[in-house]
Amino acid sequence: MIVGRLLEYLNPIAHLGKKNYSYFFPAITTIIIYACIEAIAQIVLSDPNDIGIYVIFVSIVLIIYFSFRDGVRGGLIASSLTIVYYFFILSTHLYTTSEMIAGIEATLILGFFYYLLAGIIGWLKQTIDTLIENEANERKRLQKIVQQLPVGVIITDKNGRIVLTNKQLEVVLGEKVPLGFVVGKESFMDARYKDKPLHPSQTPLAQVLQTKKSMIKKEITIYRKDKKNVHVLVNASTIKNNNGTIIAAVSIIDDITHKKELEIRKDDFVNMASHELKTPITSLRLYVDVLSKYSRITDTRKKNIIESIQSQTERLQGLVNDLLDVSRLQTGKLHYKKEEFRIDQLIEEIVADLQATTEHELLFVSKKKALVLADRFRIYQVIVNFITNAIKYSPEQEKIIVRLMVSGDTVTVSVQDFGIGVSKDQQKKIFDRLYQVTDSHARTFPGLGMGLYISKAIIKKHNGSIWVESIPEKGSTFYFSLPIVRKKERATATAKRRTIRVVPSRLYEKN
Ligand code: ADP
Repeated sequence: MIVGRLLEYLNPIAHLGKKNYSYFFPAITTIIIYACIEAIAQIVLSDPNDIGIYVIFVSIVLIIYFSFRDGVRGGLIASSLTIVYYFFILSTHLYTTSEMIAGIEATLILGFFYYLLAGIIGWLKQTIDTLIENEANERKRLQKIVQQLPVGVIITDKNGRIVLTNKQLEVVLGEKVPLGFVVGKESFMDARYKDKPLHPSQTPLAQVLQTKKSMIKKEITIYRKDKKNVHVLVNASTIKNNNGTIIAAVSIIDDITHKKELEIRKDDFVNMASHELKTPITSLRLYVDVLSKYSRITDTRKKNIIESIQSQTERLQGLVNDLLDVSRLQTGKLHYKKEEFRIDQLIEEIVADLQATTEHELLFVSKKKALVLADRFRIYQVIVNFITNAIKYSPEQEKIIVRLMVSGDTVTVSVQDFGIGVSKDQQKKIFDRLYQVTDSHARTFPGLGMGLYISKAIIKKHNGSIWVESIPEKGSTFYFSLPIVRKKERATATAKRRTIRVVPSRLYEKN
């Protein structure tokens, strides 16, 4: 222990990065060593001059050692004491005048060389110390920042060895993550993705180190040892140096359990509320329809009031139906009844119906015939949503263009308006649940942000695509595409269906 301490005290490498330079130690050690040399020269050797060359060698070693251990000043102390010792030697030996002059000259030249050596090595040592100190300060600052973050953080080196974690990680995981643990080899927690246990090599940090690609917002459930399950959102990425070489990896773990629970509660509420509202609204609508049909009201004012109630009840019923659809989508209970129908004919019907309700001019152009296998009502719902949105979001315009294009195996329906448009950053989000554009202009339009979310789910269920192209203040074009039923396919499908029903003799006839 003591020997270890002593060796560490003497080892100049162990002093790298430490700026507490000693002056006492170089001075006292140099004096003791020269005193020993002098004693050896006087007592042991018959001619003290024999030791000259060794003194020069020892001096150089001492100066290098102290410059490297204690910086410029350590080196200068050793150099100065060496020069003093050289003058001591010159003064205590009986040299001739010419020998004395040569000795002084040599001492001065060597002294200059020693100071230069001490200056260069000491300066290098102090520069290295400053660099190490800066690095250490930077590291401390990073550690402080990481500790203060409200999300869990894991930092590994390039081999996946955990080098830094923070307090919040412990809070999220319910236990401490061992430093030095190598990710990807074994698991330090029971993490599951979509209810399936994650193999250690599938954990986010292991994945990013393997694939060298960042991972964004992966939702993982952690089954904690205290039997509390937490939902976390994980972002992970590698850290590269200036040459692009991976030097570390970092993972940010955000606890979203509370948010998830709130979402579930909100979904339950929407589900319950829409079911509770459905029955009274259906009855209300029925009564209003009966009232409007069978009462013989001739007063136009009263008639108008009944018509208003009728249209508002219809709107209310539409909203409740949308709410029900959203909650069915959440629970996976939205069912589809697929049938073959001509989508061009469906659009024609919708355009005619909606034209009667709006002052906008609805133009159905580029009509092509296209047969699809889909849920007619649900596709109707998507087209109506596109057109009613186009009407709603282009109040100062007149024209709305509906197109139907067939290319290869897909049919694409588009609805173009010349209204307020949607900015680029909002274009993806408007298909999210309950998302509405929040800029001051769009805010003035009523709505709940359910239509496009439902439309997207419907189109995805039909193996189609849905998207928007838009320029703010110039207008938007909303598209969806679906696979079409080709005549040949249709014939085979029909034949296949028939094979089930027809007798073998007729089968031969068909083929
Ligand atoms: P809602 O219209 O009821 O708010 P939607 O889901 O149909 O809900 O639309 C979501 C959002 O997308 C709307 O709030 C609106 O901001 C934007 N949007 C939809 N259609 C258009 C359109 N044709 N022009 C401009 N913005 C639109």
